[in-house]
Amino acid sequence: MGRLEGKSCLISGGAKGLGAAQARLFASEGARVTVGDILESEAARLVDELSGSGADSLLVRLDVTSESDWDQAVEAVMQEFGALDVLVNNAGIYNRALAEDTTLEEWERVMSVNARGVFLGTKYAIPAMRRSGGGSIVNMSSVAGLVGSRTQTVYNASKGAVRLLTKSTAVQYAPEGIRANSVHPGVIETDMLREVLRNEDERATRIASTPIPRFGTPEDVAHGVLFLASDESSYVTGAELVIDGGLTAQ
Ligand code: NAD
Repeated sequence: MGRLEGKSCLISGGAKGLGAAQARLFASEGARVTVGDILESEAARLVDELSGSGADSLLVRLDVTSESDWDQAVEAVMQEFGALDVLVNNAGIYNRALAEDTTLEEWERVMSVNARGVFLGTKYAIPAMRRSGGGSIVNMSSVAGLVGSRTQTVYNASKGAVRLLTKSTAVQYAPEGIRANSVHPGVIETDMLREVLRNEDERATRIASTPIPRFGTPEDVAHGVLFLASDESSYVTGAELVIDGGLTAQ
């Protein structure tokens, strides 16, 4: 019996990186996985792979900034699987600039994906989860949602927004059996940080400043998300799961 046996799970930004690792792990634990992304061919390849391994899976085109995309994506999940038990608001984009160098356009773009996207996902998932008899929302924040950064502005602000939106969701919907928790990864090697981590000095400095002296893997994060998605965490809501090798413990 898998840890997510039969649960219908929608993962935004599931085509690659952390989201794809979650999709694979969820499927291996018996979940019915819907991958939502703007990268349609990557997402389609992943869904083929999951189906090939025997999992029920579905592809939806989902730009998390679009209200009509969310409406249609949740509807498609309900049509296909008859329930929405888990939503991972995983899609996100990165930005690195000091406050005075951050353009208004960059601010709007990053807030739109990272904060508005999580809000819309939550808004459309709640009624579907209510119809499904409850659910679990897992929101991908970051260590940048916990502490200030010398290099980030809007990324910091957007991930801080995710952290507190998660808590208000948790408080508002706990009586209906809908939980919400945030996940706060440290430095994980994915395409998102590829440019930043190309610099050898930067890599060495970052590893040296992490108590567990390595970068995280997408699987390190996926195992935390799995716990929050599953019924094993049924008394956990409004919590912050930090997966950062001890970075913010010091
Ligand atoms: P990634 O760039 O590898 O993958 C991000 C995915 O989100 C991609 O599939 C992309 O197509 C999708 N996406 C982007 N904009 C979208 C949109 N408008 N609508 C739908 N999908 C969209 O990045 P990742 O490292 O896997 O990051 C996943 C999440 O984890 C993000 O929210 C990120 O902020 C967070 N995070 C990452 C790290 C890290 O070190 N990699 C650390 C902390 C938090």
